Amino acid sequence: MVIQDIYNSIENLKSLEGIDYLIIGYSTFFRPIYVFHVGTYEGNQMLMEGGIHAREYLSTLFLIEEIKFLHEQFVNGELSGGYYVVPLVNPDGVALVLEGVSSVSCNIQKDILKLINNGSDDFSLWKANGLGVDLNVNFDAEWGKGTQNVFCPSSENFVGYYPESEREVKILTEFTKQIYPSITISWHTKGEVIYYGFYTLPPKLIARDYQIALKISEVNGYSIVKTEGSVGGFSDWVSLNLEVPAFTIEIGNQNISHPLNEENLSVVFEQNKYVPIVALKAVNNV
Ligand SMILES: [Zn+2]
Repeated sequence: MVIQDIYNSIENLKSLEGIDYLIIGYSTFFRPIYVFHVGTYEGNQMLMEGGIHAREYLSTLFLIEEIKFLHEQFVNGELSGGYYVVPLVNPDGVALVLEGVSSVSCNIQKDILKLINNGSDDFSLWKANGLGVDLNVNFDAEWGKGTQNVFCPSSENFVGYYPESEREVKILTEFTKQIYPSITISWHTKGEVIYYGFYTLPPKLIARDYQIALKISEVNGYSIVKTEGSVGGFSDWVSLNLEVPAFTIEIGNQNISHPLNEENLSVVFEQNKYVPIVALKAVNNV
């Protein structure tokens, strides 16, 4: 699989009848970042994002299938509310995982990326964007206070130069503020875990989110874990700034090595295809 295969699948979604889509911005290396909307604009709206950690691109493949599934439900009149989906937040990072530095056009950037990657040509475990910033610690939510944060460009955990220094992060926060969703789900790999409850949230909101996490767990059977020691992520930022329920779901069995690939898609899709529908319904009942 190469990055163009993923873009082909994403761009095929445009032809689904009644689906809306928009390019909400471009990555550091000028790749488009798409959002799709399925369902109605009345009622609660969910926002989902995937592919923010490069080696976790199975989350992008899952969301592409999920958009088709939600669309089928919509056509059958079985969907209420709406779903915004950003399937690929970090296309430059995913391109590095799939194709290495041959995915980068400038020689100087190839050299810099190899240096950041400890001189290696193997980018299969890369998590960061094209500048060596880990996007999921670059959000403005207790930024730089994480237990695993690092402060130099790296394949993972570099928080960036200041909160929202990365354009992919800025694009996502601007869009999120614009639509003000009722609930968000960030899709990652791996471990079959549902994270909820950013530590600064008041107990009442943590209890609210736990009720929704229980509903999600009834569908996918994943364990529910309260977020500890992690800051600067998209879910953290949503919790802190919007105070709406925000979850991070780690798909894929813990025993499978990174990067989880398309061979794992059918299992995680069957486990999780009803998760967005059940979670959005649960928002009405908490
Ligand atoms: Zn991740």
